[in-house]
Amino acid sequence: MTLNPVTAYTAACNACGEVLEDEDGGTLFTDPVSATAAASAYGWTILGDQHLCPTQDATHQKFIDQAMPPEPAFQAPGQLTIGEE
Ligand SMILES: [Zn+2]
Repeated sequence: MTLNPVTAYTAACNACGEVLEDEDGGTLFTDPVSATAAASAYGWTILGDQHLCPTQDATHQKFIDQAMPPEPAFQAPGQLTIGEE
């Protein structure tokens, strides 16, 4: 038997540190792309290399505000504001 070390990734929220978990209580990924894709699938917000869990509070909003350009004065028809459902 040979034992090989592997690198695993978890997705953690940049605002509160919460780690992405699936129904089984833990999620490890073998590459950052998969971790980001899974986080997105679970409703996380991906801002470049930052990940934000679905929690909506002032701390999380601050990260979103910093990453987003200033809001335009008007919205084009059909445009959705991030965070609204
Ligand atoms: Zn969070």
